[in-house]
Amino acid sequence: MKVLIDNGHGENTPGKRSPDGRLREWSYTREIANMVVSGLRKLGIDAERIVKEDTDVPLSERCRRANAIYKETGKKAILVSIHCNAAGNGSFWMSAKGWSVFVSNNASSNSRKLADCLGQVAECIPVPVRKQTPGREYWEQNLAICRDTNCPAVLTENFFQDNKEDVEYLLSREGKEDIARIHIEGIVKYLGL
Ligand SMILES: [Zn+2]
Repeated sequence: MKVLIDNGHGENTPGKRSPDGRLREWSYTREIANMVVSGLRKLGIDAERIVKEDTDVPLSERCRRANAIYKETGKKAILVSIHCNAAGNGSFWMSAKGWSVFVSNNASSNSRKLADCLGQVAECIPVPVRKQTPGREYWEQNLAICRDTNCPAVLTENFFQDNKEDVEYLLSREGKEDIARIHIEGIVKYLGL
């Protein structure tokens, strides 16, 4: 099984930062993606980032890359796209906070299982998990990276880049380790290892 890690946006994407400019989503999610890939590899799991560029690679190209690898591996791949949430446009601190995981509206049972596994690890750490529906770990949304990829696929929104407390946590060693752990242990749980 190959684990594909996607990280959204690029250094050229407008916005997508904390109001004080300390956190930029494109670079933060690449840092977490690297931690997740190396953590999985240490456990002997084949993992790679599908966006190695620092620029914003269009969603259609990211889906194309994931689908090509899914085909090459004989349908033995899963995808996790790593993001940070935002409630506003990045100009002001907002009040929404917490961690969440998403699947597309047309998600397969395996995508839902993968999201459940990540959510369960998040609850164990514990971090505050935002829910769309009480009792369900994941949100359903029309997200291209989940909708247009053929493999099991989820997207994580790792806290809010425009919530002051969340940004402190995101930038702390503890925060980075927790977020990497949610992904690594969630994927291990899904794979049944
Ligand atoms: Zn994002």
